[in-house]
Amino acid sequence: MKKHLFPVMAFLIILASCAKEETLEEIRESITLDLIQDINADSLESYVTWMQNMGTRFCLSDNRRKVAVDIRDKFRSFGYTTAYLDSFLLERNYRGIDYSLWQYNVIARLEGDRYPDSISVMGAHYDSILSGPESDPFTVAPGAHDNASGVAAALEVARVMKDNNFTPEGSIEFVAFAAEELGLYGSWDYAFKASDSRAKIKMMLNNDMIAYEPSANMSEWKVNILNYVNSLNLPTIANRLAAKYTVLDTYTDNTLNKYSDSYIFSMYGYPALFFFKDADDPNYHSLNDIVDYCNFIYCREIVIISTAMLVEKNIY
Ligand SMILES: [Zn+2]
Repeated sequence: MKKHLFPVMAFLIILASCAKEETLEEIRESITLDLIQDINADSLESYVTWMQNMGTRFCLSDNRRKVAVDIRDKFRSFGYTTAYLDSFLLERNYRGIDYSLWQYNVIARLEGDRYPDSISVMGAHYDSILSGPESDPFTVAPGAHDNASGVAAALEVARVMKDNNFTPEGSIEFVAFAAEELGLYGSWDYAFKASDSRAKIKMMLNNDMIAYEPSANMSEWKVNILNYVNSLNLPTIANRLAAKYTVLDTYTDNTLNKYSDSYIFSMYGYPALFFFKDADDPNYHSLNDIVDYCNFIYCREIVIISTAMLVEKNIY
């Protein structure tokens, strides 16, 4: 009998060691599933409502520092105790008047435990505007879709990673950019400073307008993932993770890829992607860009892609 026991034992030992040894792919998958299960459409809606209710987030308005401080404090309320404002001077003419005003990017950092110098940026502009000659963005510019939705994405991923005690191997910076609507100034300042200090940004994910989808039929939902000549393998990874974790079909139409913050990162040589809704938003830059017309179940799907990418790039 003893003679036969050895192969059985050996088989059991091999089986046990196989079960213990998770592949990198399995580790990433289990972390991603834990995180995305906590990404909440109601949370996204609550942040967008909160930002809309600030009245205006126009970058030349008197309340601009208060807006930035409030967003910073929201990150702090999630446990990002060192979330901070990074200021820069914006000098430009708007409708015939010269302005010289301080602007404030908001940065919250999740420190990497293995390669803290290697940075992934998840960013979105927080300023809003109205178009049209008679519009006055100085007092009211709700900007729910454009772009409270993108800031909500960064806030929600930041919250969920902190709540789950997720520790990335590289560092993640959640950034709310100022003054995008007048010319991508916030991302310009951030990317310039990063480049100037030789920061190692391995990936920049930009969410700008990610919550407009009038169809209730999920099988019709799509997301446009815009890229740049130096986006490297990011589009491939994004498409794979979207197929794995979301209901969304993905496609790439780069027509507008110069019109949001990710463009600046690409110009500075950083690999970037830009997530953008599929359907035309009739409320763009109008007083009707309000939370009522946003679809947060759809928005949540897009947020999942950034979440999965941050795990993919920070567990290796
Ligand atoms: Zn925008």
